[in-house]
Parts: sequence; C-alpha cells; structure tokens
Amino acid sequence: MTLQAAKRPEGRILLTARWLVGHRDGRHRLYENGEIVFEDGEVVSTGHHFPGEVVRRIDYGNAVIGPGFVDLDALSDLDTTILAYDNQPAWKKGRVWPRSYLEAGPYEMYSREELAFQKKHAFATLIRNGITTALPIASLFYRAWGETAQEFEDAAEAAADLGLRAYLGPGYRTGNQLVEADGRIVTHYDEPRGLAELDAAIDFARRHEGAAGGLIRAMFAPDRIETSTAELLRRTAAAARELDIPVRLHCCQSKIEYDLVLTQHGMSPPEWLESLGFLNERCLLPHGTVVSGSRLVERPGRDLEIIRDAGAAIVHCPLVSGRHGNAVDHFGRYRAMGLKIGMGTDTSPPDMIMNLQVGMILARTMAGSATAVRSEDYYDAATIGGADALGRPDLGRLQPGARADITVFALDRPHSGQVIDPIQTMLLTGHGRDVSTVIIDGRFVMEDRVIPGIDEAADNARAQTQFEGVMARYPQRTHGHPPMSEIFSSSYVVERKEDAA
Ligand SMILES: [Zn+2]
Repeated sequence: MTLQAAKRPEGRILLTARWLVGHRDGRHRLYENGEIVFEDGEVVSTGHHFPGEVVRRIDYGNAVIGPGFVDLDALSDLDTTILAYDNQPAWKKGRVWPRSYLEAGPYEMYSREELAFQKKHAFATLIRNGITTALPIASLFYRAWGETAQEFEDAAEAAADLGLRAYLGPGYRTGNQLVEADGRIVTHYDEPRGLAELDAAIDFARRHEGAAGGLIRAMFAPDRIETSTAELLRRTAAAARELDIPVRLHCCQSKIEYDLVLTQHGMSPPEWLESLGFLNERCLLPHGTVVSGSRLVERPGRDLEIIRDAGAAIVHCPLVSGRHGNAVDHFGRYRAMGLKIGMGTDTSPPDMIMNLQVGMILARTMAGSATAVRSEDYYDAATIGGADALGRPDLGRLQPGARADITVFALDRPHSGQVIDPIQTMLLTGHGRDVSTVIIDGRFVMEDRVIPGIDEAADNARAQTQFEGVMARYPQRTHGHPPMSEIFSSSYVVERKEDAA
C-alpha cells in the first residue's frame, strides 16, 4: 500500500501539564507536574526532570496528559439511534427489513462518496473525543447487504489522512432478520453472498495490514452472531488465525438475539461459538449484556466463564446499551471474574468520557452499591483494557517504548469543578470536548480543537443533508410502508411558520 500519513515533527518533544498519567509496573500512575518526552512516534521518557536535550517544550497548564482512548466499537457512520430513540418497536419503525423490501431488492442508502465522507467525518469526531485507536462499526440495516472493500479503501485513506490509528475490515454476514407481513421476525440466509464478502474481507486484510507506516491494521468484522451461519464463523476464525488479526462479533447484546441462537442451535451464543472453535484471545465481543446469570436469561449456564476462559474480550458500550434499557450486570463483577474488558462508543456522541461516566452510574445502579466500581477501573478499560484486547502492549499506556498516542484533557473549563484527583474529576464532570490536543504516533492530529483540513460546520451540514435523504427513503423499508410522519414521532405538536396565517 502507498498510504501515507502526514510527517512527524523531527526531534524530541517534551510536554508538561499539571498531571501526567504515566505507566509503570503494569499500572497507570499520576505524576503531578509531570513530563513526557517522545520522539519519532515513540515515548522516550515519563516522570520528572528529563535530563536530555529536546527541540520543543509545550506546557499545557491545568490539564491531564494521558494515553489516547482505544475504541473497540467506534461509531463510523451517521448514527441512526436518533431514528429509533423514541420510535419503537424496531420492526414496526423501519429498523428491521420487511419481506417486501427484501423482495424488491434492498439497495445502498448512501453513495460511495457519501460513505467516504461519513467515514472521514466520523474519524475526525473520534479524534475530537480523544480516541486514538478505532475499530469502526456501522449499521448494516441501511446497506444492500454487507460493507464493501471499496468503501474501506476510502476509510483507510481517511484514517491515514487524519493520522488516526485504525483497525479496518468491512462488515459481512450470511443472514439478515426480516419481519413478515404478520409481524413475525424470521432470518433470511444468503450464505454464498456472505462467504464471498468474507473472501473480499480476507483480501482487504492482506493488502492493508500495516499500511500507512503501521497506523492501519486489519480486522475481521462478521456483523452479528444472529446474522452468521456456522460456516461463516468457522472460516472467519481460520482466516483470523492464519493472519493473526482481531475478530469482532456482536453477541449477547439482546434478548431477541440470545433466544434466536438458543432456538436455532440449542445452545447459548457463547456455547455455540465455543462449539465452533470460534473463541480465542483474538475475539472482541460487543456487548455482553445478555448472558446466563443476568436478569433476562433464566436458563442456567456458564456464558461469562466460557468467554473468559477462551481469553476473548467483552466490548463494553454502556451508553448504547443503556439507551436500549440494557446494562452489563455488573462491570465490577465482570472485572472481579477476570474478564478482559475494553470499551466502545458505538453510538452518538462517540464520547468515551461520557461512556465511562454512564458505565460507572449503571454499574453502581446494577450492583446497588456505590463501591461496586471506581473511576480508575473505567479509565483502565478505555486505555489498557482495549489495548490488551488487541494484544498491543505498546498502546493504551504511556511508558518508554510505547507509541506516542497522547491526549490533553483540560481541567480549567467553567464546568470542570474542583479537583482532588484528575481522573475522578474527568469521570464526574468531563466531556469529550474537554480534550484539547491529540497526538497519534507522534503526530499532532488536533491542536486546540482544530484538526487540519477539517471544516467542522460544513461537515455537520453535509451530514444532516445526507441523513434527511435516508429518512425520506424510510417508508420503502418499513413494515406496511407507512408515511414518514407515522414512523418518526415528534416530542410536541409542531407548528410550522409556513402554515401560520
Ligand atoms: Zn455495537
């Protein structure tokens, strides 16, 4: 590949701030008035009193310099949660394809140019939220079937342009849920199509692993367990083993999915994956909320133990789960069990800090205890947890030899409140938009909230126009084909100026 990221500054750079989250002996630690030095994309030193020469010094003042966040389920399209947020059930509101739509021939709701724009727009938004490693996720509800290698060529170009570290692979599937005219939900399979998409994904992975000076890595992204056949999962696992790259598969994320797998295979989702030889330390599994032992599953089982013992990681996305009335039960317990846990944003806003805050609240609510989880437990998951899930000891922590993926988080905003510990303040009052500067692989990809070459206001307007286009096409893909006004409710009665006398 010829993808090229922007040039790095030459020479050693030293950053200082009121706080530095460094790393030593396997744990983060806080250096008050700390310093970090990096050169050629790599951390050289952390701590105090760096003795060597540097070409540039930057002091960020009352701020936290910390590792960039690792987002294992990183929002990469125009999030459609808003369409369903107050418009349920999903099968009545265009989220699940009606059979009539399948028979008419599903089509891409966006053009190649629109999809390329969306990836770049999404990647820039991730950077604005301090995310330095991203594994993109997008909804396949709006696609003809899976994602295409072509759009991931565009995604690789966008990531390289922006300097974002990304694990890329088109989402693919062999099945899709449909709603019949009478409201029953069934699964329609097209295995040859899904296997051909897997072949394209393998080809993409071979061509892109290590591109743009190592910023771009490959992954496999079979979409969801309930849209996968056994053959697709077996072949995926074999290809991932051969190429030694991560595999992400949504499972244990809804009661409907859990019951579908149980009915079809006589096993729970983790039991079925285990029986296929699918599970291992390369597996990343969003969202792990519906499992044996949780309040939604009566059947006894060892779901979490199976995942843990295989070395697979749970991808925890508390914001999107909570919006669906779901939660991991509970984060403190999962950690105590020894499960590997990384974080994902998955929905809009792709604000990792907000996810950590919501996760902490949900964990304490589910546990019925304010001591179930502490701020550093969540901060660990968003940094070390994600990096370890990817088998990357050089990410998610700032210590000599690690990649220079660094964020600067301001503590001096009007809403910041008081500080007794910077991570506790971040988890209490922080926002993604308090991230002022982002450095990835030693490159300054955002400074003072400015990302070179990105016009945020123009991009937001373009995104809104594209989204309205999809909404206008919604009746074609909604059960019974009702008009838009019946699919999307409004909060209050709307009075329009042009209707007024
Ligand atoms: Zn997800």
